[in-house]
Amino acid sequence: MAALLSVSDLHVSFQTYAGKVYAVNGMTFDIQPGEIFGLVGESGCGKSVTSLAILRILPGHGRITRGEIAFDGRDLTQLSEREMQPIRGRQIAMIFQDPSTSLNPVFSVGNQITRIIRHHMGYSSQAANQRALELFSKVALPDPKRIFTTYPHELSGGMQQRVMIALALASGARLLIADEPTTALDVTIQDQILELLVELRQREGLSILLITHNLGVVAETCDKVGVAYAGKIVEIGPTSWVLHQRQHPYTEGLLAALPSPRQKGQDLLSIPGSVPDGLSVIPGCPFHLRCPHVMEVCRHSEPGMAAAAGSVDDQHRVSCYLYSSEVVR
Ligand code: SF4
Repeated sequence: MAALLSVSDLHVSFQTYAGKVYAVNGMTFDIQPGEIFGLVGESGCGKSVTSLAILRILPGHGRITRGEIAFDGRDLTQLSEREMQPIRGRQIAMIFQDPSTSLNPVFSVGNQITRIIRHHMGYSSQAANQRALELFSKVALPDPKRIFTTYPHELSGGMQQRVMIALALASGARLLIADEPTTALDVTIQDQILELLVELRQREGLSILLITHNLGVVAETCDKVGVAYAGKIVEIGPTSWVLHQRQHPYTEGLLAALPSPRQKGQDLLSIPGSVPDGLSVIPGCPFHLRCPHVMEVCRHSEPGMAAAAGSVDDQHRVSCYLYSSEVVR
């Protein structure tokens, strides 16, 4: 099946007062129609910048310097701003961590969603109202007629996020980018929103790029996962393979850092050191300064992506010399 979104060797940098920041350095992944793909990693690994690059809404002095973003067969990096407009919002929608900052506080949520429906779908006022109520039901908002007349500040964070998802569906988007959509919500509400995303994938055939720092969220939700470090994927594959047969030391570190009831009374584990600031390109493997298994070769030569041991059809891939037959340890 042809991928709906195919990001290939994407590079993004920012010109800052401190110098050029290399935020994304060869990001590569595909999302199939109806698939939920998790992009996971610590803050500063290039996840959110990748999503902004896909929509071509990079802030300030951000530039795509290399690579391709093919959406439905068209390379978005080559489109003019005018050509991007019908894709942004209409075909690719985005929801953020804090829905209250995305909703307009001075209009009722009904007003906001019907404007989108009328703008993108050309519906009459009455048909747009009807469609808005259907969408509020679809995202399991209780009493859609009452919700229609409320203002964002009258809704809880979980309800605001459901409204945001309804807004994304209102435009008929085929790809939803969800950037840390549950991080600002209570744990019980987080589960409900994740369940809703999985349901929408099944019911509506929506493809979802789920950006998160939380591997627990990935385990519950995603079909495939890419683990990003220093602006590129270091391990990728079907979620259960990456989580249960992880090979990259960074994936191992992220999983070890997940809180567990078995660690009661003990300090939480963390990966030593910090994510590179991107102001310079690290020679060799970008993880070598933090890796417990670092070898001499890792310091000066970057490993390529290769099929992980035991991978079926090369679907599980990893970038690490520990799994390269070319390296004599
Ligand atoms: Fe660690 Fe070397 Fe593998 Fe990088 S290539 S993750 S430094 S063992």
